[in-house]
Amino acid sequence: MNILVLGAGQLARMMSLAGAPLNINIISYDVGSEKLMHPLTLHIVDQSLPEAIAECDAITAEFEHIPDDVLTLCSSSGKFYPGKQAIKAGGDRSIEKALLDKTGVPCAPYQLITERAHLETAIENLGLPLVIKTCQAGYDGKGQWRIKVDSNVDQIWSEMSAFLAAGSADAPHSIIAEQMIPFRREVSVIGARDKSGNMAIYPVTENEHTNGVLTLSVARAVSTDIHRQAVDAFSKLASEMDYVGVLAIEFFDVDGKLMVNEIAPRVHNSGHWTQQGTLCSQFENHLRAVAGLPLGTTEAIGPSAMINVLGQSVIPSDVLMVSNVTSHWYGKTQRPGRKMGHINVVAESEEALGEKLIALSAFLPEDDYPGVAQRGRDLTQD
Ligand code: ATP
Ligand code: MG
Repeated sequence: MNILVLGAGQLARMMSLAGAPLNINIISYDVGSEKLMHPLTLHIVDQSLPEAIAECDAITAEFEHIPDDVLTLCSSSGKFYPGKQAIKAGGDRSIEKALLDKTGVPCAPYQLITERAHLETAIENLGLPLVIKTCQAGYDGKGQWRIKVDSNVDQIWSEMSAFLAAGSADAPHSIIAEQMIPFRREVSVIGARDKSGNMAIYPVTENEHTNGVLTLSVARAVSTDIHRQAVDAFSKLASEMDYVGVLAIEFFDVDGKLMVNEIAPRVHNSGHWTQQGTLCSQFENHLRAVAGLPLGTTEAIGPSAMINVLGQSVIPSDVLMVSNVTSHWYGKTQRPGRKMGHINVVAESEEALGEKLIALSAFLPEDDYPGVAQRGRDLTQD
């Protein structure tokens, strides 16, 4: 079976690795260069997009910022999953918020902004501090502003209005203001839904962000109430979209109540631990769903963690001395802060996971890998 993936980054690469044992071949369409390529070797495939669409058995995407004409072309083939509507919901916060409102899934109180007066209303109604996000084109905390009591609102507005002005009639730009949520922690849930509506949902993952970028994920037991809320949000959103594939939902945990931060209509960084922490990773389950195969188990083998490798030129090979640790390198050109790879670790117990993280922290300097040592200590003391 051949699956065309829109995007040629690490997520397509990991789908390719997961697909091989299933006899699923992945070909990537790099949206930037408009070329088809092999996601592992990046060798160019001499084919046009319409040819690739005609030849493949299914189409999916590894990210949501895809030109509208490409989405429409893929949609018209009738084999695009999770489909244009879901990709749009993940790529435009105004559509995403409308979906959350429609399904009654709680999210941060917000206000849509397309002119200055809306910003004043947001400050008045939502209060300060505010988190301001571009509705289109943001990722890894980019395209965001924070407005605090002492912020220069005129300065921030001039940057916001530049973004609004960069939109066009065909592709209008908008901005959203959200109340700053005093969350206790951030968690995410990742699950798959197949073409018949069956769902397979992984355990909730706790996520630590540093400067708006995910640095560490830990999958361990959470309360049944948190699990229930996460599964409920997943079922409502996936069913509403008649979703096929893996869907990720990021939440703020506010005193035990989950509030959606955002959804990602694709495999997600906070689900990378499933490569070793379960028998069927998010990448495999995504391909299974899209290919019309039965979904696989989402049960965790044991408490697991994923450490992001950001901006490094290499993963220290010493980490492999710690048992049950695997290193995943994406083969991308190094840039400061860029997601270059990740490290997975799975353990028999939370305490053992803590010990492994402490052992790993000896090879992973705190400045480059924030939170690893602290999380290790927390897990051993819980
Ligand atoms: P990514 O691509 O990494 O998911 P993003 O650019 O899509 O990032 P968000 O997930 O919306 O951006 O925000 C990044 C981080 O900023 C969040 O994980 C959270 O730590 C913080 N943040 C975002 N919105 C709020 C909010 N309303 N209140 C408090 N913190 C927030
Ligand atoms: Mg996010």
